[in-house]
Amino acid sequence: MPVELSLIATTLDYEDDGKHFGHLLVPNSNNLSAWGTLMVPVACVKNGEGPTMLLIGGNHGDEYEGQISVLKLLQRLDPAEFRGRLIAIPALNLPAARADTRISPIDNGNMNRSFPGHPRGTITQRIAHYVWAELMPRADVVVDLHSGGHSLNFVPSAVMHELDDAGMMERTAAAVKAFGAPISLMLRELDPIGMLDTAAEDMGKLFISTELGGAAMVTPETISVTDRGLDNLLKHFEMLPGRPALPNTPTRMMNTPEGAFTMSRGNGLYEPVVDLGGEVKAGDLLGRVHFLEEPERAPVPYRATVSGVLYCRRVQGWTAPGDTLAVISADL
Ligand SMILES: [Zn+2]
Repeated sequence: MPVELSLIATTLDYEDDGKHFGHLLVPNSNNLSAWGTLMVPVACVKNGEGPTMLLIGGNHGDEYEGQISVLKLLQRLDPAEFRGRLIAIPALNLPAARADTRISPIDNGNMNRSFPGHPRGTITQRIAHYVWAELMPRADVVVDLHSGGHSLNFVPSAVMHELDDAGMMERTAAAVKAFGAPISLMLRELDPIGMLDTAAEDMGKLFISTELGGAAMVTPETISVTDRGLDNLLKHFEMLPGRPALPNTPTRMMNTPEGAFTMSRGNGLYEPVVDLGGEVKAGDLLGRVHFLEEPERAPVPYRATVSGVLYCRRVQGWTAPGDTLAVISADL
């Protein structure tokens, strides 16, 4: 099937040497701007021969470590010291980032459920399609920086998936390890359909994701893990000189075993009793859901079904059926 051409134009030539900043020009006809354009910043740093890395932040708008660290990286990169090509988009879902929301306020598009996108679809689908049709094919390595957003908080981690290709899996694991986050996670996705991850892996690209923190905020710690991780990845792929700077505490190789995810079964107020990063054993209490309008009712306990580390936790107090309350990771 021939690939339909993207209707998104760009002001950048990805073949130019040096450091260049430009925009993706996405048609956006709306009430305030009849013949308007959504301008999504994109940058390209290129020098000589070497691999191409596609680096994405703000795939979800309310996840800020990636957005900030990509901006910082673009400021400090000197093309003369650089080898290969970096194509970077600090905020892929720019309207969502501006609105401090996970999904786009323009079309309710969840960018990370929109791949491979559509050239004639909604704005979110068109951006996803541009990445899939125009940028991913140029890349050897695709890095998509996520955090927990408003509803989740994570122990900072670099993330990969189980892959059919053993060689690719080994190369991906080496890169994830080089990122040097506190946890290097083999994640089992709940909903891989439409993810940028899946699109990149299906295209045969070396793909790395992250969960770097969350609660729609950043901390000095999560930003420093991200800044160091990006430098480490560029060094790992020999795009920057030097060796990856690994943290004093070595990264912990973990996965999410069967039973790792704990979902809420009811409406109520969630009281976590384990801190993020805390060690838990199967059967340990993770938290309780309280019933504000039924004070006579006893709270419902939620217990760990596997042993490991509390890798991820719900942020908000209010919870509804189906919310992820906790994710436990276990040592590989
Ligand atoms: Zn995300």
